[in-house]
Amino acid sequence: MPDVLQGAGVSPGVGAGPVRTIAGAVPEPADDRHGVDQHRGDADSERATALAALEAVAADLEERGERAAAAGNTDGRDVLNAQALMARDPGLADGVRAKIGEGVAAARAVFEAFGVYREMLAGAGEYLAARVTDLDDIRDRTVARLLGLPMPGVPESDEPFVLAARDLAPADTAVLDPAKVVAFVTEEGGPTSHTAIIARTMGVPAVVALPGAASLPDGTRVLVDGTAGTVRLDPSDEDVTAARAAATARSSALAEFAGPGATADGHAVPLLANIGGPKDLEAALANGAEGVGLYRTEFLFLDRATPPSDAEQEEAYRKVLEAFPEGRVVVRTLDAGADKPLAFLPAPGEAPNPALGERGVRMSFRHPDVLSAQLAALARAAAGLTAKLQVMAPMVTDAAEAAWFAAACREAGIEHPGVMIEVPAAALRARDVALEVEFFSIGTNDLTQYACAADRQVGGLAHLQDPWQPAVLDLVAPAAGAGIPCGVCGEAAGDPALACVLVGLGVTSLSMSAPSLPLVRAALARHTLDDCRQAAEAARKARTTTQAREAARTHLPALTDLGL
Ligand code: PEP
Ligand code: MG
Repeated sequence: MPDVLQGAGVSPGVGAGPVRTIAGAVPEPADDRHGVDQHRGDADSERATALAALEAVAADLEERGERAAAAGNTDGRDVLNAQALMARDPGLADGVRAKIGEGVAAARAVFEAFGVYREMLAGAGEYLAARVTDLDDIRDRTVARLLGLPMPGVPESDEPFVLAARDLAPADTAVLDPAKVVAFVTEEGGPTSHTAIIARTMGVPAVVALPGAASLPDGTRVLVDGTAGTVRLDPSDEDVTAARAAATARSSALAEFAGPGATADGHAVPLLANIGGPKDLEAALANGAEGVGLYRTEFLFLDRATPPSDAEQEEAYRKVLEAFPEGRVVVRTLDAGADKPLAFLPAPGEAPNPALGERGVRMSFRHPDVLSAQLAALARAAAGLTAKLQVMAPMVTDAAEAAWFAAACREAGIEHPGVMIEVPAAALRARDVALEVEFFSIGTNDLTQYACAADRQVGGLAHLQDPWQPAVLDLVAPAAGAGIPCGVCGEAAGDPALACVLVGLGVTSLSMSAPSLPLVRAALARHTLDDCRQAAEAARKARTTTQAREAARTHLPALTDLGL
């Protein structure tokens, strides 16, 4: 293996530490009733082994629950305790005993006994069906223990570590302790994958699309540079010190630009933060966010079997609105499905391509009760507060869908409805859609995915998930010119050069992960609106992503001085 591996740097900064890998899926134990997998007649000892494994899994879940509670995460403890109870279910133990009595080996007996429960739950309505995920997790843990395989899920570690995986699911990252993870490296995932977004929100350096990331041996020391996209194996102390010093020098150079976002000639461009919940407010405020431009509410719903109660939702929304008494807060209604699967809202059937299936606002058509509960909680949360609440729907395709959503908002007492522009059809007919709502927010992550027909979760297609694609800029232009305020909240807004181009295209606000705010603030402050317009024109005239980047930068000379 070379000393330095190259991937796509998607979250800036430097992190060094030992690698801990998220183990891959636990395989189904062979159904080999007449072969080597049988327990060869010693049913009692096989039963004892199986039940001891279930008990060990239960004890481990409880112990992790206590640690979660000690860190203030009592919801996490409740979920883990409920899982421990399932592992100790007497009916399950009876099922395992019976299977072993038929001659089946311990791991296979556990797998089959869980299968019976799984079917019962899956057929018992939406809420119970969601418990299937929890059940599968306990089954996989028990089977892994019995077969001597690595435990699935996020690894445990006493010291800070670099998390390596094939890819990270939102549910994996939701339980991460940010103090423990110094960097992410994944084999899959592009610049707009959820690994990338979460890493940027947490301020953790990350490299995705890194060949071999998932097979890095556990414990290997690495130095991750999330700006250059490199991972150095076994770095010297000097390598680590030099990389850290360079990263610190850059952030202190940028710290001198403060205040609201504006170009050098005073054209205001509000700089807003993308957040997943109240826990991200601190970083948003510390980086000078003027408000929230994208509140991804599905993060409140992740990693849980039942939706949050109305009161819980209201509290989570109010906390965010209270943080910006003079600003705006743009809340996106639930964007479930595809890369953000929610246990309690399973996609109907197995869509062959979930990204083109029922997700975003399409899920709200199917579950209007979930949408109206969310809108009502938002209206209650905003009552009596001074922040301007704007609410937008994800994945809107045309004017009819926009009108449906605006009507639902008005019925709930939400005064400022908007839509995300992430489907090319909506971008192309932005003038029609603009007649129905008050504002747009362009989701360049999905817009790029759909414009380039490149699944944002596939690492091998990272080069096609590039919002510098002139075709994507051609889709931004009509939305920005449709006559209503139009922000950008996709990851493109956090790229300092592209942020200038977007402003040049007529975009009126930019929303990004908090750590990108100082970079974009500095880039805008050093260029005039006319520079931005020229950069935009040059980028749109280019024929490739590389040429678009280069052409734009010739009109944005201060980027180089700023080290951006
Ligand atoms: C987008 O698609 O650009 C966006 C901001 O939404 P998400 O990344 O959550 O899909
Ligand atoms: Mg999106």
